[in-house]
Amino acid sequence: MAVAIAMDAQTVTAWMNEIAASVRAERDYLVQLDAAIGDGDHGINLNRGFDAVTLALSTEPDGTPGKLLILSGKTLVSTVGGASGPLWGSALRKAGRALGDEPTFDLAQLVDAMAAALASIQDLGAAVPGDKTMVDALEPAVTAMRGGLARGASSGEMLRSAAEAAEAGMRATIPMQARKGRASYLGERSIGHQDPGATSTAMIIRALERTVAGTP
Ligand code: ADP
Ligand code: MG
Repeated sequence: MAVAIAMDAQTVTAWMNEIAASVRAERDYLVQLDAAIGDGDHGINLNRGFDAVTLALSTEPDGTPGKLLILSGKTLVSTVGGASGPLWGSALRKAGRALGDEPTFDLAQLVDAMAAALASIQDLGAAVPGDKTMVDALEPAVTAMRGGLARGASSGEMLRSAAEAAEAGMRATIPMQARKGRASYLGERSIGHQDPGATSTAMIIRALERTVAGTP
């Protein structure tokens, strides 16, 4: 049986702060990955964006989880110029809308919110798995979360399998040829490099795992 854990506004703030910390720590690595097949700004984009999210959330102590995710998404859209800002921005806004106005959410609602995030990235960017984008990390993570929910996995086990699936998806982008975004301009020369957006997406899921593991 799944343990009924309740996540709340603090979970969302802690998750965004975890993302900000790991993106800051890996900023140069993300820049290097993007320099190989893009324009080298991915680490700078996300670092700026999630620092702004952290700041925005620190002035909103009373929001519901849904409202805080929507605020986070809006902040990313307004502070990140690259493709990743609007994509993750709309993803977090849709995830927030999926959570509604309740003060808490459970694992099933978290899975719905992450599925809404994936759907919004695909609606906006039109990428499918195999196109060498963030979708290649997020789609397997959402599938793993659904599988965990169906077998009654604990929150820790569900999120660990999601993070592992995202990292496997991230590594699987190396031999792919990019079909969406800036890297697609390189054609076959995009082969042999790990996608920066899939890499940061795996970090975002790992940050969620660390956050939920700390939920009482
Ligand atoms: P930009 O490409 O505008 O410089 P970033 O460097 O911040 O933006 O982000 C690049 C990442 O965005 C890519 O590595 C890829 O994962 C993701 N990306 C680009 N276009 C798309 C798309 N259409 N759908 C999904 N993800 C995309
Ligand atoms: Mg870039």
